[in-house]
Amino acid sequence: MVKIEYLTPASPEERKRYYREEWNIKQVPEYIIQSIQEREFGFDHVGRGPNDRYKVFRTPDLLKRFLKVRTPFAAYCSVAFYDKPRRRDRWTKAELVFDVDAKDIPVRTCECEGVCEICLNEAREIVLGIIDTLKGDLGLQNIHVVYSGRGYHIRVLDNDVMSVNTDVRSQIVKYLVGADVPENEYSLDFEKVSYEHFVIPFGYPNVFTKRVKYAILHLNENSELDEVNKKLLKDVLKHRQLIELDNWGMFKNKIGPQRYRKVIKGIASMNMSLVDAKVSIDLKRILRLPSSLHSMVSMKCTEVKNIETFDPFDDAVPKFVYER
Ligand SMILES: [Zn+2]
Repeated sequence: MVKIEYLTPASPEERKRYYREEWNIKQVPEYIIQSIQEREFGFDHVGRGPNDRYKVFRTPDLLKRFLKVRTPFAAYCSVAFYDKPRRRDRWTKAELVFDVDAKDIPVRTCECEGVCEICLNEAREIVLGIIDTLKGDLGLQNIHVVYSGRGYHIRVLDNDVMSVNTDVRSQIVKYLVGADVPENEYSLDFEKVSYEHFVIPFGYPNVFTKRVKYAILHLNENSELDEVNKKLLKDVLKHRQLIELDNWGMFKNKIGPQRYRKVIKGIASMNMSLVDAKVSIDLKRILRLPSSLHSMVSMKCTEVKNIETFDPFDDAVPKFVYER
């Protein structure tokens, strides 16, 4: 098994080689090139965080020259568009972004210390689920995925969402990850009827059902859920093959309705950390520039053309790593 931690940081010499011999402006996604004049760029030259900010490039060629000469430790670009990016002034819109870091996934089947192939694959499954909901439920289409070095960024550029504020973005995040237990009582005239989320095959209850299913199938005996004790967790694990078969009613019976409620509440609150919400609600965030080198782990931040087949250990390892 390949562990990202085995990939040691890139030396200044390796960075130079990467930017001068391997990096190509064509690897910067078109959606950034097209709006290059409206974006703020930021750089980290020594490995202490991006402190060289407010950089602006009028043309792709100027960005190219900068990277080849400075060969930075890390390069970033704003998700925001500005009329005056040099002063981060006159904000016009910002991509809607989701950061799924394999290291921070709340339910992992793998218990490795850092990030390995298994963890990265689970991050990829979460990304696939989010994209499915972005397209199917929210009708969004202009969606791009970037391998960040130890996880994935989902970047949405549909005009409808690029102008929405922080509050709307945080509602979208909650919907996508399944962070609220859906209402299960509905009023019909004077009667109250109740439906569990898993009998409603569309809308938010359906999204929630999918996220709960994912979580339950990825729990292990050491997982921690609010208000779920060891005994309850054990019972969930014992009966979870019912969930795999979508036999929710039976699962709820086995667990008991009260305890079932506790489980889904615990999962809902855990789901909030499937993505880094701070990144999604920040209208002025800078994100690692696709094509740039993640020098800490010696991997390329890479635009993902096909998430179904993408393999970071094939597609995001710079040449110099093989020659070490
Ligand atoms: Zn792992």
